[in-house]
Amino acid sequence: MKESVFYMIVYAWIAIAIFIFPAVIRFVAPYGRHTNRKWGAMIDNRAGWMLMELPSLLVFSGFYLFGSGTRPAITWIFFGMWVFHYINRTFVFPLRLRTKGKKMPLAIMFMAIGFNFMNGFINGYYLGTLATQAQYPISYLADPRFIGGMFVSVLGIFINWQSDSILIHLRKPGETGYLIPRKGFFRFVSCPNHFGEIVEWTGFAIMTWCSPALAFAVWTLVNLMPRALHHHKWYKETFRDYPPERKALLPFIL
Ligand code: NDP
Repeated sequence: MKESVFYMIVYAWIAIAIFIFPAVIRFVAPYGRHTNRKWGAMIDNRAGWMLMELPSLLVFSGFYLFGSGTRPAITWIFFGMWVFHYINRTFVFPLRLRTKGKKMPLAIMFMAIGFNFMNGFINGYYLGTLATQAQYPISYLADPRFIGGMFVSVLGIFINWQSDSILIHLRKPGETGYLIPRKGFFRFVSCPNHFGEIVEWTGFAIMTWCSPALAFAVWTLVNLMPRALHHHKWYKETFRDYPPERKALLPFIL
């Protein structure tokens, strides 16, 4: 593929995310607590998570490992971080969920598969085919973008994992109801798991300093900011004693 065509696809992909944002803010994604049977056929929640996240792991890895570029040594660190994240999200996270009997609409699963194909493709193709030694020499390890981005990304991973774990352990095995989470970053916001995920991929975009990773960070924000706002509204409507000072996504701000 011509490099210029590839970049046109990436910029168009970013533009689509920005364009659909006003609609996504109004659209309550019908999975988890917002699951809605009006969306047609359903699939077991755990299976849905595994199937929809798998393309991110496979497509990204395939394009990276079989790309025609030189794969500078630094890019293996990016590859490792991606694979680490998606092994958790595809296999470990769904198996840990206390989600007995819950389902998600197939439509949501297919939308996520589409997103993960595109996201895996642009990032895997870029790092496996287009990334050059000149862009990522070994000295890039000391570059402020690499160090700062790595710090931000690891901080995001920590917040995301800790928050997901707190949520998962709110239920006893076999339970399916909802409680108010009170530990960790839940003291500040209703959805620190989403906040952590946004921070993680923002850090990744900084450390890789490339447009496909920027696209991923933008899409993560567009996907998760609305979800956090919808969760926050749901919490306030559902629990009378919900902590009034708690924000939705950004501590003290939003
Ligand atoms: P949620 O916070 O909606 O749910 C996570 C899990 O915790 C679910 O099993 C949910 O159960 C359970 N849970 C949530 N709140 C409570 C509560 N108050 N009491 C008891 N159990 C609760 O997370 P999402 O499903 O939106 O996302 C899961 C992960 O995937 C997150 O880490 C998120 O960042 C990531 N993600 C990333 C995206 C991206 O674009 N990069 C897009 C979407 C998700 P139930 O399912 O029954 O509601």
